[in-house]
Amino acid sequence: MKINIIGSGSIGSGVMSASYLIDDHILVDVPNGVIKYLKHLNYDILHIDTILITHLHGDHFFDLPFLMLGKYFNKDKTSIKVICPYGTIKKLKLLFRIGFPYDFRKVMNSINIEFIEYKGRSNIRLGEYLIETRNVKHGKIKPAFGYIVHKVNKKVGFSGDSMHCPAKDKIVEDSDVSILDMSLKAEGNHSHMGYLDIKDICNKYKDKTIIATHMHNSTRQVAIDNPIENLIIPKENQEIIV
Ligand SMILES: [Zn+2]
Repeated sequence: MKINIIGSGSIGSGVMSASYLIDDHILVDVPNGVIKYLKHLNYDILHIDTILITHLHGDHFFDLPFLMLGKYFNKDKTSIKVICPYGTIKKLKLLFRIGFPYDFRKVMNSINIEFIEYKGRSNIRLGEYLIETRNVKHGKIKPAFGYIVHKVNKKVGFSGDSMHCPAKDKIVEDSDVSILDMSLKAEGNHSHMGYLDIKDICNKYKDKTIIATHMHNSTRQVAIDNPIENLIIPKENQEIIV
């Protein structure tokens, strides 16, 4: 699998918010501004056929209307599947009502998009990929999910936004490479992990590769100044082969 780290920043950082592209066609999270940013990086957004949403915070799904409008304006009828938490369609309608009144139905009727909403743990087979969802803990936001994407015998884990909870360790244990929320520069809190949580995980799973994401600028600097052997601090659009 090829993973491109499109964004590894928190909403307050100068780096694009957490978002990843798998094999150029599966997008994990759709933060505000990411569709324009993907074009800036010379990706063709019409190649995206699958979207995984971890949870319904704006910096993880607010650009969904722009992806849909991109398909609509290009008269692109190729199929796109959105795997997302329960309640996504309701919030998406609200986004359209605010930003593009009267257009939701028109766009939905013109493109070939399917939403697969779920509440709990599930396995979804999509061609050669198996998408496994894991419940994680992210403050008051429920549901909040992590994912493990399987292809042949390789597995990549995505924590989504989450505090340090047993589910997060399990994602690392069950994956070859894991992309983990490391928002904070020291300890984590009830919503996010910090550098010290990630340091513990890296020590516990020394044979695993961890990629940090959702970082504030200060967190990124702490991690660069205090490197951990099996921790990658990704650069813009860094490519990882698993
Ligand atoms: Zn969040």
